[in-house]
Amino acid sequence: MDSESHQEVGPTADSQQAQQNGEPALLRKVVKTYDTRGGWTLHRLASATEFSCVCCKRQKRAKLMATQSGVWDSLCCNGCYGQHLSTA
Ligand SMILES: [Zn+2]
Repeated sequence: MDSESHQEVGPTADSQQAQQNGEPALLRKVVKTYDTRGGWTLHRLASATEFSCVCCKRQKRAKLMATQSGVWDSLCCNGCYGQHLSTA
């Protein structure tokens, strides 16, 4: 029964560790972070990701998203980010 012991150690241990650190899953996909402007920080992810924008309350799917004060619970779409900058 060698195969059984092999299943216990796998790539799943990695993702569990990251969650324990309190690191948002989205943060691991960030490939570029832009300067913070007007309290919002724009991020580019490696791939399009679904999220709900706290500003327009819409479900979005995009590579670009902004966080407010670095809080990943408050995600904002690229369109609303642009609005924030123009009104800041
Ligand atoms: Zn929005």
